[in-house]
Amino acid sequence: MSKILLISLFFLSLFSCGQLVRTPASLKEKKHVVFDIDWTITSEVNPEFIGTRIIEVEGKKYFVHDAIEQFVEELLQKKGMTISFFSGGSSSRNHSLLRQIKLSDGRSLEDIAYKILNREDLTIVESALPSNKFSLRFKKDLKKITTDLSNLVMIEDTLHFVLNQNQEEHVLFIGKTFQHFEKFSDAKHSTGEYIPRSEGEWSLARKKLLVLNSAFNAAYTETEQSGMSWSEAIKIQEAQLDFSSGEWNDYSRMMYKNSQSFKPIESTTCSRIFSEFIQINK
Ligand SMILES: [Mg+2]
Repeated sequence: MSKILLISLFFLSLFSCGQLVRTPASLKEKKHVVFDIDWTITSEVNPEFIGTRIIEVEGKKYFVHDAIEQFVEELLQKKGMTISFFSGGSSSRNHSLLRQIKLSDGRSLEDIAYKILNREDLTIVESALPSNKFSLRFKKDLKKITTDLSNLVMIEDTLHFVLNQNQEEHVLFIGKTFQHFEKFSDAKHSTGEYIPRSEGEWSLARKKLLVLNSAFNAAYTETEQSGMSWSEAIKIQEAQLDFSSGEWNDYSRMMYKNSQSFKPIESTTCSRIFSEFIQINK
């Protein structure tokens, strides 16, 4: 093929890609997903616990929740999406923990994080009593991630941990969390507040991040099509999932099914065209 024809094809493909990646106004702003850590993406287990997806951080063992890697990878494929972590754990614990959770390209959650906020970033509630529980004495101020809260969603297992009622509108509550059991049968003989009572409760807890992954995909599509804000679109998903009930419903089942059939879009067809062009012309 002549060089002139190749160059013409290159510029034609540049033009086509430009058309494909033209972004609606609503997508030009950065979107934020902020993950809590404890009981949201990892759960501490007993020191003698043996099982899969266990990491050790500063002498403690944690179960890494199923599919957090896939969830983060799919979020990162979305234009303008940033991932942050905000936890009441110490900075050294949080960084060490996030460093041990690896995506399929070898990067860790620490590597891809936009911001990692820790215990020292919590806001002290002056009026709280020393006897109050932790989440009453300290609050997460989401404006430390961005002041544009309409484009921010925090995934959290503790109710009312954010600074004020306005910020609650930007929190997706994942419902009750449980002690980790590899199989539901392991939970049957345990007692206590954080033991799943039914196989449904146990399996929803195990598959929650997969369900959320699909729900976040649906919310993102909604923002693209309707121009609805990111946090509004997620709050609609939260209402449909109804995690606070602790049980599966038709919508969460459908989202779980979708997560099993989701095929990530083959990344950057345009960049492949360019790299092939460069290879040909080396
Ligand atoms: Mg938590």
